[in-house]
Amino acid sequence: MAEQSAHQKYEFKRKLEALRDKKGRGTELVSLYIPYDKQISDVTSQLRNEHGQAANIKSKVTRTNVQGALESLLSRLRYLNKAPENGIVYFTGAVDVGANKTNMETTILEPPEPIITYKYHCDSSFYLETLEDMLRDKKTYGLLVLDRREATVGLLVGKHIESYRHLTSNVPGKQRKGGQSAHRFQQLRLIAIHDFYKRIGDAASEVFLTVDHKDFEGVLIGGPSPTKEEFEAGEFLHHEIEKKVVGLFDVAYTDESGLSELMNAASEKLSDLDLMVEKKLMQRFFVELVSDSGKTSYGIEQIRANLVVGAVDVLLISEDLRAEKDIIKCGSCDYETTSIHKWKPGDAGEAPGTCPKCGSILEVVKKVDVVDELSEMCDQMGTEVAFISTDFEEGSQLMNAFGGMAAILRYSTGI
Ligand code: ZN
Repeated sequence: MAEQSAHQKYEFKRKLEALRDKKGRGTELVSLYIPYDKQISDVTSQLRNEHGQAANIKSKVTRTNVQGALESLLSRLRYLNKAPENGIVYFTGAVDVGANKTNMETTILEPPEPIITYKYHCDSSFYLETLEDMLRDKKTYGLLVLDRREATVGLLVGKHIESYRHLTSNVPGKQRKGGQSAHRFQQLRLIAIHDFYKRIGDAASEVFLTVDHKDFEGVLIGGPSPTKEEFEAGEFLHHEIEKKVVGLFDVAYTDESGLSELMNAASEKLSDLDLMVEKKLMQRFFVELVSDSGKTSYGIEQIRANLVVGAVDVLLISEDLRAEKDIIKCGSCDYETTSIHKWKPGDAGEAPGTCPKCGSILEVVKKVDVVDELSEMCDQMGTEVAFISTDFEEGSQLMNAFGGMAAILRYSTGI
């Protein structure tokens, strides 16, 4: 499967956020996960069966809503011969919209990764765990700790460490036995060390080569000095793995506990690696900003204007930015306006207020997601879009001081 773009990930995250906020008044929201290889006829027969059982639900409102959701699903499934490659997920139900009203809503998602398990779930909220898992960090680092007697190979996936191989050597100690020549002893010892390093290299390469290359961030090597340096310099790792070595770290243990010690020793470097690209972009933005080159832009309308003329080199969007352009109309007179409405994840939106001409309540008649709109403009113009986390200082400045969006320009436009 093609790797998802940052924008697709952002959109998917937004959709899950919206679904998470939806609640049913009773156990009446249906989530249906259909994997690629599931027979649609099996699904429809289960739904018909659920429909029959729903007749036993005591609350009339809940019963009507559950049956309504199932009927809506059954009619949609009539047009589906087979689930798409990654499967398909339906969320259907009478969603509480306040003011004592519910609204029958359906959201259909094609997940970014294959669904493995078929699932029918009926509850007062939608079942999202499977999809939320797909957003979790799968970044992987190869971990290797070694000295001349022992080595352990493991993987760090997201925040989780797993140990895969443990090796011990028969390298003799430095003390030679009587009768051996010092020279001969030293030679045998070096051969044994070399053999052990080779075994370590082979074992580590074997484990690390199983990692999907798109998730593989790098290899960390830990141990006492100068063993780890000697090992690295000897090129005992597979050449593809060798290129992935991002650092050598001092650790005292070379058993399984050494793997977490290694991760701790490297933690600063790891977070730097994750954020390095974003940091560099934000630093570029600030350098241009303070140099007064005119090659920066912020404010949604200014950025849009710069995008239109093709002047944007990189568009920087805060991961925390939620922005919508609302077209607002008065129900009683001809008053119409647009307003940009921003919020942070988890915040509730605000009502548009009253008409300045006649005082009637205003209504939002159209919503355009600003992040989607501008990212799509970037796609068309071949402009790079970078989503910036708020986990570092410049990133949180983007959100708090620049309204969540800024651009580095190719040239000054004076806009
Ligand atoms: Zn009005």
